[in-house]
Amino acid sequence: MAARHGSAPRDERSLFAEYTFLPGAESLLGGEPVSIRSLLEDPAYERARSIGRARVLAAADDPRATQNLAELDAAGPEVRYLSLLFDQIVLAAAPSAAVLRRWAVAEAKRSHSRLSTVPSDELVDVAQRLGFTMEARPDDRVALRLVDYLRLAVPIREGDYRLARQDVGNGWVVVARYRAARLLQEAVRGRLSVPVPLADDVRALVRDREAELLDAIARRMPAPVARGTASTGAIRPTLFPPCIRKMQRSLEAGENLSHSGRFALAAFLHRAGADFETIVDAYRGAPDFDESVTRYQVEHITHHDGGVGYGPPECDTLRSHGLCVRDGDPSAPLPADRPRDPLCFEEWLRHPLQYYRTKGGKVIERDGAGDRVDLSPSGATPGTSAAPARTRSTGPR
Ligand code: SF4
Repeated sequence: MAARHGSAPRDERSLFAEYTFLPGAESLLGGEPVSIRSLLEDPAYERARSIGRARVLAAADDPRATQNLAELDAAGPEVRYLSLLFDQIVLAAAPSAAVLRRWAVAEAKRSHSRLSTVPSDELVDVAQRLGFTMEARPDDRVALRLVDYLRLAVPIREGDYRLARQDVGNGWVVVARYRAARLLQEAVRGRLSVPVPLADDVRALVRDREAELLDAIARRMPAPVARGTASTGAIRPTLFPPCIRKMQRSLEAGENLSHSGRFALAAFLHRAGADFETIVDAYRGAPDFDESVTRYQVEHITHHDGGVGYGPPECDTLRSHGLCVRDGDPSAPLPADRPRDPLCFEEWLRHPLQYYRTKGGKVIERDGAGDRVDLSPSGATPGTSAAPARTRSTGPR
């Protein structure tokens, strides 16, 4: 169905046809439930599957949803709804949760293209159906409960959405209509990022039926590769100290990493010369990975102090947070990570960057004007800290 930008849906069915992710949109099927097996196998639903596959692949290619999906626009409400449901089921069975999150970002942006053009009444209707309290104001602005504003605005990294810059009063935040649409985009993303629960046999069925699609996604979203900047060349993860390698392993395995660990990893990668996308990629396996929040936080860490960035904490600090792994990690998959590391027991070693530099890694820093300065490509001096003079040992959280 082509989006009727600028006009309010006439009835509930029209609303669900536009926003098939809304609770209650299953009513588009007219009370005829569709089983997962039918959706995966029945020839009657091939069109929904075809459009669903196109949506997933478009998101894998470009989570900014800049691609126009003519087939989706031309589809009727039932097919639109079923294609979304198909995607949710397939992505819940995907080996990597990162695929679902990426698709959710793309679908939320797709919905934003309509939300940004509709009247306030429609925004309010969608918001309320998603569980957020919103009110249209006579001056064409929109008010949100303060608690809802905070829930939606935190992942948005643009400074204009910070609470300090808003019109706040009596527990409400009043924003322009276009900002309300952007906030609702986050609500949609949050809703679609939650995987639908699947039983093991259903997951196996999905993986079998859609193996080709899942393979295509994996090819489009390969595992992150560490990329350095032009001034450092490739960074060398095999030379990272045990603590940093352990943090990376934890995230890759989908395990939780403490706030202090997440901060230390981003700050270390930044100083080791990793580019912005490489640092963001390092967090994709985190169970609570949120693209917007991660980008905001990495930006905060790397842009601090005019581009100098926060420095990773010293070894003593990491040790006090239980993040030092110098005694080895017996459960590590690679034998090289299991024994104690003698370099970490050298008296002069006080900083993870010092370890990396001593091993031959290239450590860089930005100067106050934002230019990169190569401090010590290879001439490590044991007994002196590799932490540059401007390195900070504490993080934003
Ligand atoms: S001694 Fe320092 S560099 Fe080595 S694992 Fe511990 S915190 Fe990391």
